[in-house]
Amino acid sequence: MGTVDTVEIRVDRERCVGAGMCALTAPDVFDQDGEDGRVLVLDARPAGGRSAAARQAAGFCPAGVITLLAGDAVLAGDAGDDGTPG
Ligand code: SF4
Repeated sequence: MGTVDTVEIRVDRERCVGAGMCALTAPDVFDQDGEDGRVLVLDARPAGGRSAAARQAAGFCPAGVITLLAGDAVLAGDAGDDGTPG
């Protein structure tokens, strides 16, 4: 077993600071809202190269609000919705 090709993306828009690292790193997966600058998910189930870019973007996000899931496994991020203050 090894790489998981398809992942599921979760973001916590409440805690997004609009830094835009995600949209720069994985422009096929993330964009920024034109009004509030917060993240928009373009592809919630990216595969292949998009998945790799999304994982990188999760690592770069300064607010740590991008979570990648593969089934029950968390590949990146902190699952976001545990109520812990950022
Ligand atoms: S990198 Fe993180 S904080 Fe910045 S816009 Fe994307 S999700 Fe929001």
